[in-house]
Amino acid sequence: MTDSFLRAREAPQGPPREYPPLPEALVVPVYDNHTHLEVEDGGEPIHYREHLDRASAVGVRGVVQVGTDLATSRWSAEVAAHEPRVLAAVAIHPNDAPELVEKGLLDEHLAGIDELAQRPRVRAIGETGLDFFRTEGDAAREAQFRSFEAHIEMARRHDLALQIHDRDAHREVVETLDRVGAPERVVFHCFSGDAEFAQLVAERGWYLSFAGTVTFRNAQNLRDALEVIPRSRILVETDAPYLTPTPFRGRPNAPYLIPHTLRAMAAHLGTDVSMLAAQISSNTELVYGHWDDEPVDAPRGPFDPAAAAERAAQGEADRDRG
Ligand SMILES: [Zn+2]
Repeated sequence: MTDSFLRAREAPQGPPREYPPLPEALVVPVYDNHTHLEVEDGGEPIHYREHLDRASAVGVRGVVQVGTDLATSRWSAEVAAHEPRVLAAVAIHPNDAPELVEKGLLDEHLAGIDELAQRPRVRAIGETGLDFFRTEGDAAREAQFRSFEAHIEMARRHDLALQIHDRDAHREVVETLDRVGAPERVVFHCFSGDAEFAQLVAERGWYLSFAGTVTFRNAQNLRDALEVIPRSRILVETDAPYLTPTPFRGRPNAPYLIPHTLRAMAAHLGTDVSMLAAQISSNTELVYGHWDDEPVDAPRGPFDPAAAAERAAQGEADRDRG
């Protein structure tokens, strides 16, 4: 059906990094609303089905698998079609837009995304937005705006959630959403603003998704942001394999590590972990719908890591379908 990995993480040099151990399971489950299971990482990479099994084992009941270009978006939609624990988000990443415009390919790729957006288990357009950190120059930024605007319209047309990637572009992202007309459900993935910006986002009825960064010692701005917004606006994510929460920074991230982030958030808010988990689960279902509301053609039987590894070694497609 689908290969385990589409691309390898551009990891820092050094010895192979190990995935952290499983944390204590959550009592009330949550969802990871932004992850990249197609990215191979760690000394011993983990098959996406094992990621999902580990997540289930610690109370992370589902994920939104996020595409960043046409190939990874197709993969995401394909996996979601066969995995009850996966919903998909599809988009061209803002950092890919300039090159596609230069090659005259942006419209063609957007049309491909539009087609994927019509599949039932594709529930979000994303990640899209603006990234002024990694992209400089007027032409490149112009390309990002064009791509972002097209994605906003797509989300509205298909009544899908919109997952925003906003890096050093808070004001421009909001202005673009206001100008083009935001869809019903907007999520700032890996929210990176301060308390003031958090309030502005929440006042518009948009959601703030917190990643492992909220556990970082130097990220007081994120904890301040968390404090000032209504609980009804809060989501949680990993952005795996990136942004691994404390105390495992520097090692690969995965959906099963969400409990660390959630517990840190609850501790900071002075609230019960299970209460926060229940609130976030309900928020997440309001944004993306339910994970199990239509039958999927799921693989049967328990996941067999040895068989998957053997198939991967043979370069075969995943035929682990019973
Ligand atoms: Zn991401």
